[in-house]
Amino acid sequence: MSNSVGKLVIVSGPSGAGKTTVLGRLLEKSSLPLTLSVSATTRPPRPGEKDGVAYHFLADKEFQGRRAAGDFLECMEVFGSGYWYGTLAETVTTSLQDGKWVVLEIDVEGSATVLQKYTDAITIFLHPGSLNELERRLRGRGTESEEKICKRLEVAKRELTFIDRYRHDVTNGDVEQAVEELSKILDSYQTNG
Ligand code: 5GP
Repeated sequence: MSNSVGKLVIVSGPSGAGKTTVLGRLLEKSSLPLTLSVSATTRPPRPGEKDGVAYHFLADKEFQGRRAAGDFLECMEVFGSGYWYGTLAETVTTSLQDGKWVVLEIDVEGSATVLQKYTDAITIFLHPGSLNELERRLRGRGTESEEKICKRLEVAKRELTFIDRYRHDVTNGDVEQAVEELSKILDSYQTNG
């Protein structure tokens, strides 16, 4: 059994920046022991999203019960979405003890909370380059109403102001390029600690 302790990687960025696609490809490609932490949420699944894979989809009551029980490393009603999202503490600690590099795909506020506890987390901000591009992607996804798209764009504008708090920022213009850039960033921590 290995005694090594893993690393925490936080990836934030506006909804529609392509985080899920990029991280999926990164996990396929990387030779590092990366694992995605599955968050809990009260938002309903989008078509194709499986419970326990994309998220643990919880009813409001169950989510608040787990919150009261202290099960979350961080949790919040993500600004503008009206839904709760949270990182389960046990998922993170168990994987870190196993020597895994645990990837959290969380919003900017959640990231700030996690950083208070894990000050040496590797933080990466993934963004689509421009708000116009983000709008194009959100509309292309076709999963949200006009009202929700406008809300998400408003949130994105605000999130982009947090970019300086991240150690790295990556533009997702092309998925493979973004994956390559993320890989290089993570590989640099293999030797640099
Ligand atoms: P979506 O509904 O598009 O999957 O995610 C909406 C937002 O919630 C994204 O910005 C995403 O990063 C964030 N998010 C997902 N899981 C968590 C979590 O566990 N904690 C926090 N704070 N934000 C999360």
